[in-house]
Amino acid sequence: MFMHNKRLMYTVRVSETNPALATLMLEQFGGPQGELAAAMRYFTQALAEEDPGRRDMLFDIATEELSHLEVIGSIVAMLNRGVKGQMAEAAMNEAELYLAANQGGESHTTSILFGGAPALVNSAGVPWTAAYIDSIGDPTCDLRSNIAAESRAKIVYERLINVTDDPGVKEALGFLMTREVAHQKSFEKALYSITPNFPSGKLPGRPDFADKYYNLSQGPGDQQGPWNSGEQWERVDEPEDQMAVDGGDGEATVQLSAAEEAALLAMKSRLASTVTDDPITGADLGAGPGAGTTTAPDGSGARRN
Ligand code: MN
Ligand code: MN
Repeated sequence: MFMHNKRLMYTVRVSETNPALATLMLEQFGGPQGELAAAMRYFTQALAEEDPGRRDMLFDIATEELSHLEVIGSIVAMLNRGVKGQMAEAAMNEAELYLAANQGGESHTTSILFGGAPALVNSAGVPWTAAYIDSIGDPTCDLRSNIAAESRAKIVYERLINVTDDPGVKEALGFLMTREVAHQKSFEKALYSITPNFPSGKLPGRPDFADKYYNLSQGPGDQQGPWNSGEQWERVDEPEDQMAVDGGDGEATVQLSAAEEAALLAMKSRLASTVTDDPITGADLGAGPGAGTTTAPDGSGARRN
């Protein structure tokens, strides 16, 4: 069950209203690296988790992310609180009100469409979507995804901290940013508590391909590093050795039933191109200046337009 405590996880003290800053903060409310995405990612993972320790951790962190959602949403609400009242009460003349709402980014949309409430959109007004959650139900995959998500959330908070000089906002964002660092550490420990944890799943990789590095982009800028050279790698530079690496002919084939084959041959024959004809087309008939070389309408040969 969920319960709600009226005290925030971190005190929100905003010095002055600022609708443009509010729209930037929406990135962490309804954006892909935001708190709702984080909460839903860990909550759904927790529901299906079999390991009691990981299940407990995922519920703890999912609930903390919901608490972060409340903090960042409160920051948005406080930053919009000035224009919200002015808009609702038409407290200024039209031009002043227009300027107050339209301070940059999506601030006018937030003010007019959402009445200054934090909406589940990102800073560009794109609606939140469950497609932000990429869980796959394998803990080694999902923990790696969670680690990456926490590192991205940390960076977005860092950028948001860098665009505001409001000390209260900076401080609350600094708390949220730091908690993402802590979550990354927990997820890393949980990942490495599973041994082995690489590769994911149960099927082993095929040994003849697991250590190959295919140098498929060749030319100036070719570089060597520990990711493609050295003792653990077998570099494949020769283009001929990069094709049909199984030793086969590199063709795609399938066994067809007699009925399937007959239908395909009929389709092939019906749609076959006649390469000996040079038909007059609509482009030839209508050609004017700029059309380039086309066939003369009487089929007499090339026409330059
Ligand atoms: Mn968070
Ligand atoms: Mn987090």
